[in-house]
Amino acid sequence: MRKPIIAANWKMYKTFDEAVEFVEAIKDRIPSENKVDAVVCAPALYLPTLVEIAKETDLAIGAQNMHYEEEGAFTGEISPKQLEAIQVDYVILGHSERREYFNETDEAVNKKVKAALAHGIVPIVCCGETLEEREAGLTEKKVTNQVKKALADLSPEEVQHIVIAYEPIWAIGTGKTATADDANAVCGHIRQGIEELFGKDVAENIRIQYGGSVKPENIEELLSKEHIDGALVGGASLQVESYLKLLEAG
Ligand code: 13P
Repeated sequence: MRKPIIAANWKMYKTFDEAVEFVEAIKDRIPSENKVDAVVCAPALYLPTLVEIAKETDLAIGAQNMHYEEEGAFTGEISPKQLEAIQVDYVILGHSERREYFNETDEAVNKKVKAALAHGIVPIVCCGETLEEREAGLTEKKVTNQVKKALADLSPEEVQHIVIAYEPIWAIGTGKTATADDANAVCGHIRQGIEELFGKDVAENIRIQYGGSVKPENIEELLSKEHIDGALVGGASLQVESYLKLLEAG
């Protein structure tokens, strides 16, 4: 059985004080039966403090991006080595907003995935189609291709530690969620692609999240589907009670 993973993606929201207050408020309220993995992916500025606050609790802290180089003259960037040194557990890679606004390519995502794994950080690798691609019937082709490129040259052993997040771009921040059946079908397709590339065991073990307007009202139905192993949540992860409700649904 795959353990669901519910990850908050705060994007560029919250001041330092708000971030600290949030993590203080939830750190001891993670559902105790350990039914889900709970992660908060916060702005990089706050990571050392949040890791410290969440230490010895069931909450894990993640970054929202990183560069693939270890160190060097890359002004403004953060490296996997630096994230590892402050004990960050997860990193979101290849989010559609980074692909769209910061020109992140599949090749860069692949390098970042390898770098994260080399530093013991679990990558949450994002994929997803635009509305035009969906309407043209290209959804499966687009996401399978993104996943294949993101995981290029990895071994089955490495791939099983990765989390995939299927986030249809038209569902992000729009209030429009893919129906649970549609989301499940695409996640199933991604799993099938992983089986072809890395074998049945990896495909059965790898966790695939859905993201895009997930909220307390729709999470249960999404999680009830065979191939959906959690959620990557933007807007509904910004309030304490709403995020806790998402965890309780896991
Ligand atoms: P929303 O939950 O706000 O739609 O954002 C989804 C997302 O992009 C998470 O990475």
